[in-house]
Amino acid sequence: MHQKSLTELRAALDSKDISAVELAQSYLQRIEAAKALNAFISVDRDITLEQAKAADALIAQGRAGALTGLPIAHKDVFVTRGFASTAGSHMLENYTSPFDATVVDRLKAAGMVTLGKTNMDEFAMGSSNENSYFGAVKNPWDLKAVPGGSSGGSAAAVAARLAPAATGTDTGGSIRQPASFTGITGIKPTYGRVSRYGMIAFASSLDQAGPMAQTAADCALLLNAMGGFDERDSTSLQRDNEDYTRYLGKNWSDDDASKPLKGLRIGMPKEYFGAGLADDVRAAIDAALKQYEALGATLVEVTLPKTELSIPVYYIIAPAEASSNLSRFDGVRYGHRAAQYKDLLDMYKKSRAEGFGPEVKRRILVGTYVLSHGYYDAYYLQAQKIRRIIARDFQEAFKQCDVIMGPVAPSVAWNLGEKTDDPVQMYLADIYTLSVSLAGLPGMSVPCGFGAGAHANRPVGLQIVGNYFNEARMLQVADAFQRATDWHRKAPSASMSGE
Ligand code: GLN
Repeated sequence: MHQKSLTELRAALDSKDISAVELAQSYLQRIEAAKALNAFISVDRDITLEQAKAADALIAQGRAGALTGLPIAHKDVFVTRGFASTAGSHMLENYTSPFDATVVDRLKAAGMVTLGKTNMDEFAMGSSNENSYFGAVKNPWDLKAVPGGSSGGSAAAVAARLAPAATGTDTGGSIRQPASFTGITGIKPTYGRVSRYGMIAFASSLDQAGPMAQTAADCALLLNAMGGFDERDSTSLQRDNEDYTRYLGKNWSDDDASKPLKGLRIGMPKEYFGAGLADDVRAAIDAALKQYEALGATLVEVTLPKTELSIPVYYIIAPAEASSNLSRFDGVRYGHRAAQYKDLLDMYKKSRAEGFGPEVKRRILVGTYVLSHGYYDAYYLQAQKIRRIIARDFQEAFKQCDVIMGPVAPSVAWNLGEKTDDPVQMYLADIYTLSVSLAGLPGMSVPCGFGAGAHANRPVGLQIVGNYFNEARMLQVADAFQRATDWHRKAPSASMSGE
């Protein structure tokens, strides 16, 4: 049962092969058995089963929607009633929210059953899930490997089949990269598509929530429920939500039924295939592109000349915004308060010193520095200018193609501990995802193969980038690949998933 996609589980619920309560129980059992992965921060059987019972009642009354009774896990960056909402930080270890984030609220309203809250890098800062106060998450494909970050708990949970779907957030790659490292499908929508209300903020101009699941079709279903305007988020797009499933299974253009993607132009940015890309990843991406050609698409080379600059630009803008967003955690308004202090200033200092981990502190330092009077023009303003150029370069590229494809990351998942002593090495691994976030474009990761040699068991993700608001078409393109291949069906061996 646990190998099934949401769509398949829907059929099982509708045909009464299984009840929502039984389904929730079986996933809770798997979560319990797979504790070694450390994918979850909190689980609450009672809350989950209560939601499942309510879903069963709706199903019995014939009032089930597409998602009613299907389980989902939420990244711990979304505030939730009932479960603690920690953002992977000691600072919020005991924080319980009086309200649900819009994303959680909407998925609940659609009848989904919350399985628990997933582990993540502290305040979503990281690319390996080793920055969590609650400990690193392990990659279910290889327990020595990182699952990617910052939505590593969500990714590991879906990959190990501890949940059929999960939410994630992506500020600079945190849905796409862990999806790639764990062999699942994830999409970061256009900035502003999905409400940020109740998402604990990291970098507000970049943060965007999205679904993570086994298939593109499942992601489309989830996005249908998650997306759309929210008046409580001032950067939410004032656009009607769409039916993201509407192109699934259709031909790209109407004329030739023999090749589903005939007429699709795929842009390959030459900067994404240069030095620095591991051979095994390149081979898997090349094979995926060949598959796309077989489906009728044509490949065109495009250029994104400022790709390399996305790293310094992102690592100025994101910390700048983080330093401002995280100022609220002062031991008074939110968060941990030091037990002993001399005066008010000392209380702030000690609370923050104790509450935040090293990577978060590093970002606050960098962010405060680049925003300070003497350096604002030299760093922050320059970074903002290059951000515009990066966005413009994508628009140039989209004159020649409908979607852009390339790797999500330059390598497969690395070993736990391999990059923890060298933050810059960690930042460099974000090279292919950051610019998409800086431009606010939608991007996704689709499983397309595995590494080689010692890494033969570590998944590779193909990145698909679309133009603004093109999610429905991107999901169509991903889905067409998944109808022709079975990479998304591969699951880690049972021993890794706690069976
Ligand atoms: N790895 C990037 C960072 O550490 C992106 C994180 C994210 O998307 N939340 O900032």
